[in-house]
Amino acid sequence: MANAINWRMPLVNFTTTTFEENYIMYVDNNKTILTDVDGVLLDWVYSFRGWMDRHGYEIIDPHEYRMDKAYGLTDEEGKRLCRMFNESATIRKLSPLRDAVKYVRKLHEEHGYVFRVISSLSEDTYAGHLRTKNLNELFGPTVFESYVYIDTGADKDEVLEPYRDSGCYWIEDKPENADLGDKLGLESILMRHPFNVTYVGPAHRVINWKEIYDIIVGS
Ligand SMILES: [Mg+2]
Repeated sequence: MANAINWRMPLVNFTTTTFEENYIMYVDNNKTILTDVDGVLLDWVYSFRGWMDRHGYEIIDPHEYRMDKAYGLTDEEGKRLCRMFNESATIRKLSPLRDAVKYVRKLHEEHGYVFRVISSLSEDTYAGHLRTKNLNELFGPTVFESYVYIDTGADKDEVLEPYRDSGCYWIEDKPENADLGDKLGLESILMRHPFNVTYVGPAHRVINWKEIYDIIVGS
């Protein structure tokens, strides 16, 4: 549980592993963007399928979002493999999702936005370490100012609670999490995927980061 996260805190200390220097950054709440990782910043599905293939699992329905169903596995076995993948070395090298790199960097470099990661990756310390390395390598060492990694597939109620009524943008691809953000007084944006096309709810719906950029900068 990330009790260190408090959006009201004016001063945040963080260390970048890239430069091995300590930086102190002032946080402007209007410039803080909260974001999920898988299906938003990184293309989890693509890498997961490659990893499953290398481990001898054959996909039965490539259009199915639920991994257990896509591979004809039990719910329990599907969850076990998702966790194993999230804690594997592959998690160090996921590809960016669509145009994420271009527009995340643009929001940061040209408009001063900083991102806080909230991801249901795993509670494994080393998995989190690899994810942070992956993100810093793709997006740059100063884009992210905090990283919260909770259990694989875990709900985000508790970790979003400190941001209640902050009005921060909250980028997600899971409808439940987007709705949760809205309920907490965040500006939810839902990244489109085959599994959420039928979404009808309060979140802004987008198909890429260009659209997110336009919503944020245009506002
Ligand atoms: Mg996600």
